[in-house]
Amino acid sequence: LLADADTMLALYPPADAQPVRLTGLERSLVTEALQTGQTQISPAQPIEGEGYVLSFIVPVYDSAGTPQAALLGQVPAVSVQDLARGLQGTLGSGQGFIVDDRGQIIAHPDPSRLLATWTPPQAGYRSLTPVGGGLLGQVHEGRSSDTNARELVYYLPGEATPERHPWTVVIAVPYEVALDIAFQIGERLALTLLILLTLFAVSLIFTARRITRPLNELVSATQSIAGGSLNTAITIQGEDEVAQLSRSFSQMQQSLRQRLDELSLLLSVSEAVSANMDLNQGMPVILQSALRGTGAAGVSVVVINPSARQPLTFGKGPLAATMARYDRPVMALLRRRDNLILRSPNEVQVGLGRAEERDTPIKAMVALPLYSNERFQGVFWLGYRQSHQFDQAEMNLLQTLAGQISVLVENARLFATAEGGRRRLAAVLSSTADAVIVTDQTEHILLINPAMDRAFNLSASEVVGRKVKDVIANKRLAEILTTNTDRLRNMELISKEGKSLYASVSTIVSNQGLVMGRVAVLHDITALKEVDKMKSEFVNTVSHDLRSPLTFMRGYATMMPMAGELNEKQGEYVEKILAGIEQMSALVNNLLDLGRLEAGVELALSEVNVRGLLIGVVDELRHPAQSKGLYLSLDASPDLPAVTGDQSLIRQAVRNLINNTIKYAPGSGNVVVEAALEGQEVVVSVRDHGPGISRQDQVRLFEKFYRVKDRQNAAVKGSGLGLSIVRTIAERHGGRAWCHSELGEGSAFYFSLPIKQG
Ligand code: ADP
Repeated sequence: LLADADTMLALYPPADAQPVRLTGLERSLVTEALQTGQTQISPAQPIEGEGYVLSFIVPVYDSAGTPQAALLGQVPAVSVQDLARGLQGTLGSGQGFIVDDRGQIIAHPDPSRLLATWTPPQAGYRSLTPVGGGLLGQVHEGRSSDTNARELVYYLPGEATPERHPWTVVIAVPYEVALDIAFQIGERLALTLLILLTLFAVSLIFTARRITRPLNELVSATQSIAGGSLNTAITIQGEDEVAQLSRSFSQMQQSLRQRLDELSLLLSVSEAVSANMDLNQGMPVILQSALRGTGAAGVSVVVINPSARQPLTFGKGPLAATMARYDRPVMALLRRRDNLILRSPNEVQVGLGRAEERDTPIKAMVALPLYSNERFQGVFWLGYRQSHQFDQAEMNLLQTLAGQISVLVENARLFATAEGGRRRLAAVLSSTADAVIVTDQTEHILLINPAMDRAFNLSASEVVGRKVKDVIANKRLAEILTTNTDRLRNMELISKEGKSLYASVSTIVSNQGLVMGRVAVLHDITALKEVDKMKSEFVNTVSHDLRSPLTFMRGYATMMPMAGELNEKQGEYVEKILAGIEQMSALVNNLLDLGRLEAGVELALSEVNVRGLLIGVVDELRHPAQSKGLYLSLDASPDLPAVTGDQSLIRQAVRNLINNTIKYAPGSGNVVVEAALEGQEVVVSVRDHGPGISRQDQVRLFEKFYRVKDRQNAAVKGSGLGLSIVRTIAERHGGRAWCHSELGEGSAFYFSLPIKQG
């Protein structure tokens, strides 16, 4: 106990010899403790004979609270060392030590490190201190500058408070040791986790088993359903969702089976309907299906027969014979109403008006009317041996069956009508002398009649269904049957027996305007040709013989005035005689020309400049035309190539056409004479704005002696040979002649001349 740094008041344990000497530091701390009244602790300091010592100086106060003396105690640092050693025990191979506020190590397991300076880890260390607290002190990880070994450093810095001394406790542990500890902890944790996991897995498997077993059953049931078997039983007991699911699944399975049965039934019914045009074949199949699908004891169909007073009846099932008695009343009832459903014997008796009958074998029934195209066709009805409730699904099925029966009835009716028509047509076609061939729009043969067979040696069984080009050997016939034109085309053909046939080909057009194919009718005109030939020969001889009398009649008639003066009347008569002779010789000339042409007289072929030829004819006829109010104009290119032909015949053809406009289109203004190159032909045309020609007349205009019969034409003189000559001239040159005309619009006549003669 000290009064001040120099005055010792008491000492324990009592010193024998010399008094205890304070170190300099102790002295200053004593002074400080007395002045401040605060406890002081010295850092560890070496004291001779004592080793390292820590001194504690505690002030002693008087009753007024003033420090009067100081109590100094010395503690060997070794006891702090014990503390440090205690630290080691918890760490294994780490080091725990204590550092005082000056940074000196005051307790360390390694005595050599005592009083060495320790600084908190800085560069080279990484702080592992959790941000936001939770850990008392600081943790760092890094390499120790002394040993260069990786270590974890934990230190708890002391805070200088009156109660606590500012010492820092440091624990430095080699990294492996920390890892080791972490590993030991981790190992235990992992083990616990593993046990927990195993327990979890076991319970999971157990629970999953409970859920999946019924689900698996459901899955295998669905698979077998998908595979087509609807009879797999599903037996899952319980009240949970899976059991509920399986119950609804089983219901679904049942109704699916029912629907499938209905479907297969309807399928067989519709097959029967589409495969049969005959009621006697189709009906039994449908009735059988109705019995199978409904559980009725009898089924009956009554159909109105348009060709007899008695309706047609069809029945099936054990109850059918009994039901037949009720067919008529049921039919009568259904005419006025839709479906008739009677569910019990009572209802049946009342419904069928048999209330007086004591017992009826039909205990329930349903009847449906048959309609096609909104026309009542009959009834379809079923009888039951027990009372029966009709649900919506059953009614739907019956409705569908009734629909199918209506279709069958309608098909049969249509088929009978069509078949009748076909038979009639076949009879007409086979008995007609004209050959007939019909093709479809794809140029396949649809039909030929026996006359066609005879004319071209075609057998119907071989050619029907085949392409025209493949089976018709006659090139011209094949060509007109396949040429695309909507006009009626006519031509003469020679049959295999050498007969002349006049073919008319027309396009078959449906009501909707679609082209359905073509029909060719070939009329045998051999006899007519024969007569025509005889007539031509006769006409030729007669005209030839007429020519010379006409020549001298004309000679004498012209000479009449020379024989003596004629009076006015005589002069007028002579004029008339001359006009008659002119007309007659024109006719005779025409006849002879035509006769020569038809007889095949050699053409006087030369290179003909068509434009030059047209200029000549137009000039020649310009005046006569003008006098009839017609203005001729020529439209022909100077580049038009020359054609090889008979100059005088071509001129005659053009002349005939222009003369016709003068005769039949007087006063109609412009007439265009044109020549144009079209492909390998020069086409000459004469177009007027005259009265035009009707369609029917156009077809026959080019025939010999054909004249249009109308009032206007009656006064015009003509023989009906002009156009026939034009056509013959064109044909002799390898060309053709035709016309386009509209009544009231005008006419255009054409003929073509190939540039080179074949
Ligand atoms: P023809 O003139 O001797 O009667 P065609 O063979 O030349 O004989 O003519 C036949 C018929 O064609 C005539 O009767 C006439 O009705 C009609 N025809 C010819 N050309 C024309 C025309 N340009 N305009 C109106 N009808 C015509």
